[in-house]
Amino acid sequence: MYKDRGGGIMGSGGSSRSDLLTGAIDRKRINEALDKHLKKTSPSTSKAKSHLPDQSETDSEEEGSDVSGSEGDDDTSWISWFCSLRGNEFFCEVDEDYVQDDFNLCGLSGQVPYYDYALDLILDVESSNSDMFTEEQNELVESAAEMLYGLIHVRYILTTKGMAAMLEKYKNYDFGRCPRVFCCGQPCLPVGQSDIPRSSTVKIYCPKCEDVYYPRSKYQGNIDGAYFGTTFPHLFLMAYGNLKPQKPTQSYVPKIFGFKVHNKQ
Ligand SMILES: [Zn+2]
Repeated sequence: MYKDRGGGIMGSGGSSRSDLLTGAIDRKRINEALDKHLKKTSPSTSKAKSHLPDQSETDSEEEGSDVSGSEGDDDTSWISWFCSLRGNEFFCEVDEDYVQDDFNLCGLSGQVPYYDYALDLILDVESSNSDMFTEEQNELVESAAEMLYGLIHVRYILTTKGMAAMLEKYKNYDFGRCPRVFCCGQPCLPVGQSDIPRSSTVKIYCPKCEDVYYPRSKYQGNIDGAYFGTTFPHLFLMAYGNLKPQKPTQSYVPKIFGFKVHNKQ
C-alpha cells in the first residue's frame, strides 16, 4: 500500500516511476549515476538492513504491504532505524509530515539519484518495483536515501520543530562536550563548515569558546557536514538565547618550572 503523499513528488524527479520501469537502459543509467555517488558516500550503513526481502517471490502490491507489515523486526520506521545507527547520533528524527510535504523537498530531486526510490525508502513506502533491483542496486538506493535524509535534515533543523528536537538532543549531550579544559564540559552543537555536500565532515561547535572541534567518535567524524550546515548552531543559540553560556574567564597559561613562558617574537 502506498502512503498518500500527493501526486506532485512522482513527477518532480524529471523521470516518472513508469519511465524508470521501462527497462535495462534506464537501470544502467541510474546505476552509473548512483555508482558515482556511492564512491563518495560512506558505505558503512548500506548493508546493515535491507528493507527488501531476499526471496525472489513476486508479490502483488496488495500482498506485499501485508507481508512487509509483519516482516520480522521491521516495526521501526526507516527514520528511527537510521538515526539509531552508530555514528548517526547527531541526526534528529525528521517528522514524517515534513518529509511528505513537497514544498520542503524543493530542489532535492535534482541532487539525489534514484530520488523517488530513496524517498519511498525513507517514508517506508513499500516499492512494488523492488523485485527488479539487484542487491547492488538496493544498496545504491540505500545510499541515496542516506544522502536525501541528510539534505532534508539540514533544512528541518532550522524549523521550530527541528530545533526543538535538537534541543532535546543537546540537553542529552548527544553532540558531545567541548574538549577544552576551561570550557568545563560545555555541551556542543553539530556544525558544518560548508553547506555544499561532500565538502567537509561534521564538526562540533562549542558555544562557550566559540570554536569548532572534531567529534570524538570516528563514526560521527565521517558524517557529511552539509547535513547540519553552517547556520544551525548559531540560529539555535539565537532561538534559545538562555542557552548561550558566558565566555570562559580562564585560559591556559604555559609555564616552565612555574614561570610564565616569555613569548619572544
Ligand atoms: Zn569550548
